Amino acid sequence: MAHSPSFMATAPIPVTLIAGDGIGPEITQATKAVLSALKAPFAWDEQHAGAEICEKTGTPLPEETLKSLETTRLALKAPLATPSGTGFRSINVTLRQKFDLYANIRPARTLIPQADLARYNDIDIVLIRENIEGYYAAREYYLPHGGDPQGMALSAGYTTREECRRIVTHAFEYALAHGRKKVTLVHKANILKYLSGLFLEVGQDVAASYAGRVAYDERIVDACAMQLCLNPSQFDVIVTTNLFGDILSDQISGLTGGLGLAPGANIGENMAIFEAVHGSAPNLAGQNKANPTALILASALMLDHVGQTALATRLRTAIQETLLSGPRTADIGGTATTEEFTQAVISRLTS
Ligand code: NAD
Repeated sequence: MAHSPSFMATAPIPVTLIAGDGIGPEITQATKAVLSALKAPFAWDEQHAGAEICEKTGTPLPEETLKSLETTRLALKAPLATPSGTGFRSINVTLRQKFDLYANIRPARTLIPQADLARYNDIDIVLIRENIEGYYAAREYYLPHGGDPQGMALSAGYTTREECRRIVTHAFEYALAHGRKKVTLVHKANILKYLSGLFLEVGQDVAASYAGRVAYDERIVDACAMQLCLNPSQFDVIVTTNLFGDILSDQISGLTGGLGLAPGANIGENMAIFEAVHGSAPNLAGQNKANPTALILASALMLDHVGQTALATRLRTAIQETLLSGPRTADIGGTATTEEFTQAVISRLTS
């Protein structure tokens, strides 16, 4: 990775900060305030991307933002809205593909045991999602059918042997580095015999080279979804393809209390973008109601990434204690505003 602990000890680390759409600016403000109280060694380069900047300037990914990302190679990014069905292509997907951020790491842990919203008290699952291929890289077409010129839709997703090997290897290396015991590969190779079949075939080959060091098993994605609801403690690290990973990580966040608690990291060979799993939540935008925990926890992953593990642990502890004692935001059963919750976290960090 490009960012070493020794570098950080001497100078603040430049980070591109993208406040994004919807609740993005509110949770970004909260995260900045918490990181400032923590004295995290980041120097922000604030840039824009997404639907709101597109409305103002005509482009969802301005050249300035790209230049900043190319320079810093490190970003904290709030959610970016993408129009459904029509309009511009997802900027999230564009960034992951352009900068080869091939691994999407989505850890989920029970933070509030016994809470009504947490379905289980012992969730501790890391989902690793292939981030640049599959249906998210698909060419799509309308074709004539039944007299309708757009009566048929065709989507051609692809995967490569090379990418399957890289992501499954990443999952096993992650397991070894983080003391994890098992990797479960999730696929749909019974139906998508090539697209998902290649992922399974290469995954089995990679798994064999870790035999005796990390346990391995497999699930078909529909059965995995059901087993996550019934008995999630059987899962440790899950590795899967782009679309399945996107869906299952939202499902797993639901087992821990919801999207407001779920952080994520997009990792490449020499660049990383940290973000919440959730989207721009337009239903909450501008109301001071959003839960900033997911983006704050994403910033803790960024602290880990640059070698600041002590600060990351302090931050996670402050979040955990605040969630346990309250105040909590409405999505997890409380009444606190974004600002009240943020202030409570800051008080813990500074007292
Ligand atoms: P969403 O994740 O924005 O919201 C789903 C539900 O979760 C909503 O009820 C919302 O209020 C709630 N929620 C999400 N984050 C929350 C938070 N921090 N605190 C409290 N409640 C929260 O999903 P959506 O509504 O399907 O998508 C909205 C937009 O976000 C779309 O344009 C989509 O493309 C985009 N999106 C972006 C990203 C990203 O930037 N990485 C990820 C997913 C969706």
